[in-house]
Amino acid sequence: MIVKHVKLDIVGKKFGSLTVTDKYKQTGELPNRKTSWLCVCDCGNEVWVDRNALKRRKTEFCNKCRESGVRNEKLYHIYHGIKQRCYNPNNPRYECYGGKGVVMCDEWLLGGYDAFKRWAISNGYKDGLSIDRLDSNGDYTPSNCEWVTVSENARRGDVGKVKAHTKLGYVYVIKPDGSRESITNISKFARDNNLNISNVSAAIHGRIHRIYKGYEFHSSAID
Ligand SMILES: [Zn+2]
Repeated sequence: MIVKHVKLDIVGKKFGSLTVTDKYKQTGELPNRKTSWLCVCDCGNEVWVDRNALKRRKTEFCNKCRESGVRNEKLYHIYHGIKQRCYNPNNPRYECYGGKGVVMCDEWLLGGYDAFKRWAISNGYKDGLSIDRLDSNGDYTPSNCEWVTVSENARRGDVGKVKAHTKLGYVYVIKPDGSRESITNISKFARDNNLNISNVSAAIHGRIHRIYKGYEFHSSAID
């Protein structure tokens, strides 16, 4: 059989834990011919996967990994929740995310759940925490996201929700005029004071000097 019109655009690409090799096979006759690609899972297993399932990201693991319970991980559902909010117009929350142009960074989108999990674990994720964006209009990226618990005092939908920054402890700032203010919401503080959110966050986390634009940031967990 002479094979024509095989799209090679997914060769070498990664879908979740699966990397597509250059081996494919076709079944059925046109116009219903299907192409399957041989993929290598991060665990080393090889698996044939239908092209459409890959493109629609319906299959992201070999069977062994799927059965080993990765789907039962809470973090896995957080990851897919983000993707749903950003990319599925039928998702009830799409309007406030994807509908407003919020996307997931390439690192997590193309690297799949594994890449997201690596970032999450090395940035303090524990079951029970939820992902929060520092700039609530910004994208899901490593620099704009952190893991937070929502304070019991904060009722859903409250404006300026109170966050307990598990990693940061008590956070406060000494302003250029010498006054002192506690910070419970980094993005709101940055907005109110016309400061760059990423830089404020970096100063609080100790990634850059604690004095930024005359504001001196302190965190009981880092000081
Ligand atoms: Zn696997």
